[in-house]
This record gives sequence, C-alpha cells and structure tokens, in this order.
Amino acid sequence: MLKKISLLGATGSIGLQTCDILLNHPEEFRLVAFSAGKNIEKTREIIQALQPELVSVQEEKDAYALKKEFPHINFTYGEQGLIEVATHPDTSILVNAVLGSVGLPSTLAAVRMGKTIAIANKETLVTAGHLVMEEAKMHHAPILPVDSEHSAIFQSLNGENPKQIRRLILTASGGAFRDKTREELKNVTVKEALNHPNWSMGAKITIDSATMMNKGLEVIEAHVLFEMPFDQIDVLLHKESIIHSMVEFQDTSIIAQLGTPDMRVPIQYALSYPDRLPLIGGKPLNLAEIGQLHFQKVDFERFRALKLAYEAGRMGGTILTAMNAANEAAVQLFLQEKIAFLEIEEIIERIMDNHDNISNPDLETILHVDKETRKKVLSMVQ
Ligand code: NDP
Ligand code: MG
Repeated sequence: MLKKISLLGATGSIGLQTCDILLNHPEEFRLVAFSAGKNIEKTREIIQALQPELVSVQEEKDAYALKKEFPHINFTYGEQGLIEVATHPDTSILVNAVLGSVGLPSTLAAVRMGKTIAIANKETLVTAGHLVMEEAKMHHAPILPVDSEHSAIFQSLNGENPKQIRRLILTASGGAFRDKTREELKNVTVKEALNHPNWSMGAKITIDSATMMNKGLEVIEAHVLFEMPFDQIDVLLHKESIIHSMVEFQDTSIIAQLGTPDMRVPIQYALSYPDRLPLIGGKPLNLAEIGQLHFQKVDFERFRALKLAYEAGRMGGTILTAMNAANEAAVQLFLQEKIAFLEIEEIIERIMDNHDNISNPDLETILHVDKETRKKVLSMVQ
C-alpha cells in the first residue's frame, strides 16, 4: 500500500536523503507535505521533483513568493507551518528531520494523531523524551529511529525479548578530533571541526560529533527509545563507523548491525519497516576490503560533553532541556566564530551547574526553559 509522508526539514542533509529514497520508490511512498527553512532554491527543486500538496517555509515572505510560482500548491510558514505539515490529515508517517528542539511541538501534534514517527530529530527526544513516549503509548503512535545507532539497535532487537537485554553498546567514530588531546583542542577552527571523517551531515551535528555531545544526545535518545537505564548504555569508540551499534544479551551474545556508512539505510528502514527495500545506489559492505575494525574505550575526561550528558540523563527533568538548548546555542555561536571550540562544553557545564531542576516537566515548562537557556547563553558571551 502506498505510504503517504509528511517530512519536516526536507532541505537538510537527512531531508534530502529522504527525498532521494522517495524518488527512488514512487510505488511505495508519496510526499504529501514537507517543511523547509530558508533554503528556497532546494525547496523549489523538491516541489518540482515530488509535487507535494502542502509546503511550509520558515519566513512568511518566502511562502508568498512561492505561492506565486506554484499557485496549485498550498504554502504556510513558521512554527505553525511545521505543525500543519506534521498533522496533514492524509499522511500516516511523519519523518522528522528538522534541526533542534523546534521540532518538539510538531512531533507531539503528529503523535497525538497516532501517526508513525520516523525520528531523526534527536533534540526533541532529549528535551522532552518522557512527554513524547507517554503520548506515543497513549495514542499508539510507533516511534521509529532514523539515527543510525538507534536503527542498528532497533534492528538488532527484532524478535528479541527486551527484558533479556544486558546492555546497549553505542558505537562512536570520535568525530573530527578523535586523535587530538584537550590541549590541541584549544585552537581548532570551525573548518577543521566541520571535517567529519566518515559521515557528511549538517553543520550542527558535525560539530556535536567533534565535541561528542552527539554521542551524549544519543545515549539519552537510546534511554528514551528503548527504556534502558543509563547504567546499561555504553559507548565504544569505533573509528570506521561500520558497526552501527550493538545489543548484548544476558547469555553474553551480542547482535549488531553493520554496513557502509550511508544514512539512507536507516532512513529507508524506518520508512519500509517491517519490510526492507533495495537501496538504490547503495554500496554493499566489503569486509575483506576493509580488513580491520578498531575499538577503543572512551575517556570521559577527554570527551567531557559525553560525561555531562550522562549526568543530565541520570538526573532527568528540565536539566535535559537546559543542556540541549545550551548546546544548540553554543554550537551556533561557535559556527559564527564567536566562541572557541572548548567553550561549547564550558557553556553547557555552567548552564547545568546553575540550573534549578524541575522533574517531570510539562510542555509549557520545557518550552520556557529552552527559551530562557538560549537567552542566558547569549548573555554569557556578551
Ligand atoms: P541540516 O542542518 O542539514 O538540516 C536541517 C533542516 O531543518 C533543514 O531543512 C533546515 O532548513 C531546517 N531548519 C533548521 N532550523 C529550522 C527552523 N528554525 N524552522 C524550520 N526549519 C528549520 O541538519 P541534518 O539533516 O544534519 O540534521 C537534522 C536532524 O537529524 C538533527 O536533529 C540531527 O541531529 C539528526 N541527525 C542527522 C544525521 C545526519 O546524517 N545529518 C544523522 C543522525 C541524526 P533550511 O536548510 O532550508 O534552512
Ligand atoms: Mg547517530
């Protein structure tokens, strides 16, 4: 049966790869509604290639200009536009590939309609995982991971009893700076930080990979998605990014998912689940060619952001929102060359140290803490 799709963040790295999959499988999927930010050139290309019914952009003026070009399509804009795309009445799947906690209200709105959520937007699960999962249970909305590590775990758990899991092992490439000491990190540039060894991704997550906050967010994402205590979630450095993550069971068996690093695999799996489809243009894994895989223990002093994320995760409550918002704001400042690389984690730590934690927060509280934290970060650097 044709699956009708809403896609948030279509013009981004995950969004464009999602469009690629939809174009390659027109019998399986149809893009009905999508959102973009400010990239109007790419928005136009997606409209022409996939002919959706509804498009949302970030700015009102862009929505009006596009309406003149494409009078047969409906346009909307802003945060309300994200919600309209996510809750389009004809779609059964929401692919959320928007960047940052701005994706939270639209995810909740789609969950409340019982849609299947293919989630790349990890910040939403970090900032409000308990709300998303609670509502997902209530409305029978499946939450399927797109993040490669979580997709690997999800695939490794197929047919298994979750009660018999001993631990989840998230693999981490270590990002652009995995071989640098803390001393050497002092003067790294934005350009160096954006140079990820294995994956080509959006700017924010590439910086998150360099600080290892990405792995920290993923540990929390795994806790939320698989309901695992933090003591049973480990991180293992694996520089080749071939083993995408693993599950260890009580009998010491480990099941893992492997493949050439290609985000289209987990994106497509979330869309085709429980079936699999051919990956057009996919490169099969050739282990003989690779020869060796490497593994190393993580040093929590070297990768302090990861330690902070475990701390926030164990505490729960609004400190997760504060940590995530501080990270989003600090990464943006680093990308604008307003702060140094190591200041990202310093800012996060200061925000966390001064945070008055509220447990089990509602949506309003989360949105408030998110906004206030971003303001605090800006005032810290001024
Ligand atoms: P990109 O920066 O490449 O894309 C982000 C998308 O969100 C773009 O479509 C952008 O629009 C849109 N956007 C950004 N801010 C806003 C806003 N305020 N309002 C509306 N739209 C907005 O990010 P990625 O694709 O790399 O990442 C997206 C999400 O997926 C993140 O949560 C990331 O952590 C996660 N993820 C990404 C992976 C990857 O390989 N890239 C892997 C695993 C997870 P525009 O560009 O038009 O302005
Ligand atoms: Mg990942």
